[in-house]
Amino acid sequence: MSEAFDAVDVILVKRDRGVLSDEQIDWVVDAYTRGVVAEEQMSALLMAVLLNGMDRSEIARWTAAMIASGERMSFAGLSRPTADKHSTGGVGDKVTLPLVPLVAACGVAVPQLSGRGLGHTGGTLDKLEAVPGWRASLSNDAMMQQLESVGAVICAAGTGLAPADRKLYALRDVTGTVETIPLIASSIMSKKIAEGTGALVLDVKVGSGAFMKDAASASELARTMVALGTDAGVRTVALLTAMDVPLGRTAGNALEVRESVDVLAGGGPPDVVELTLTLAREMLAAAGVTDLDPADRLADGSAMDTWRAMIAAQGGDPDAELPTARESHTVSATADGVLVTLDALAVGVAAWRLGAGRARKEDPVQAGAGVEWHAVPGDEVRRGQPLLTLHTDTPERFERALAALAPGVVVGPVGATVDRLPLVVDRITA
Ligand code: URA
Repeated sequence: MSEAFDAVDVILVKRDRGVLSDEQIDWVVDAYTRGVVAEEQMSALLMAVLLNGMDRSEIARWTAAMIASGERMSFAGLSRPTADKHSTGGVGDKVTLPLVPLVAACGVAVPQLSGRGLGHTGGTLDKLEAVPGWRASLSNDAMMQQLESVGAVICAAGTGLAPADRKLYALRDVTGTVETIPLIASSIMSKKIAEGTGALVLDVKVGSGAFMKDAASASELARTMVALGTDAGVRTVALLTAMDVPLGRTAGNALEVRESVDVLAGGGPPDVVELTLTLAREMLAAAGVTDLDPADRLADGSAMDTWRAMIAAQGGDPDAELPTARESHTVSATADGVLVTLDALAVGVAAWRLGAGRARKEDPVQAGAGVEWHAVPGDEVRRGQPLLTLHTDTPERFERALAALAPGVVVGPVGATVDRLPLVVDRITA
């Protein structure tokens, strides 16, 4: 078959800061997915996009081309409205776990297609796989049935959804082309639009532990994604939320499941509870449900009942003991004072080095590995008081985890004040 374009010509347009035409974008995404555009050619194009950017119409077309590379799901046949949320990824961000059953307990179905973690941010599927018996893969039919019966599904995205993104994401990961707004926005939104959710709440993280380190670039990412969702007919809203400090008190797979179950039982760290409730209210509002408060569904146990049903429907045992790591190591304060810094990136890298995350997609993760922190910035601490506990099955990992943590955990003098981002930094709508 003769091809409509030559890959080199498309690369040259972007290399020379030009604007790609709709036809060039459609062709290059499709031809790459078919294997006609070579990996090295797409690598060069991605790097040109990272360096020279894309305008809004190019991003919209690139997103549409990725959606067109695979199937589109539809939840139109369900008896209840649907809403989903996506977080751009943070350290200790386990909010999906309590949020999905909570929103389902309020009558809105949540089809959460998740991924595995790569690098220092954990993946929701890795966390849930710490629950004995739980399975991440579901057929589309099984997913639809579970959405109707339980209202809540967290599962692996099927290979049919935006296959172009699957290939592109793997290439970006090894070519230093992940951190750029056009490619992040199109990657996330192509999957969410193809998934077919009616409403979408984006949790765009800001701070050291996030892709976007400053509020201006997080805001630009959020605006780009909200526009893409809205233009595709998905009611989309974004919250910018803090990721300068890790969320909750734990980072690591089983550790985070335990903390999520605490939230569903009516306890848990205040920041996790607040973010869960804030996102739940946004999802319900976007799905048109405004007459009930999700806090009531946490308090009356119905969110916990939905969690148990959701776990059991995918083979998990909600009553099983969660795995714990074989070894632990405590870091204590060396002086009286105030914890002034607990850096999200440092904690995320430490948890990853302890075995909670993976360096390559095929690596296994340790269910019990991770970091617990016993104080948060602003807390007074006493000399000798435990600040953090590190967990792993492989104690030779402690040294590198401690090296990652050292610059990120700072105790200041007694009376020191702390500057932190508010939990919700901004709210962005179309
Ligand atoms: N998550 C995605 O799905 N894609 C990105 O590019 C970044 C985060």
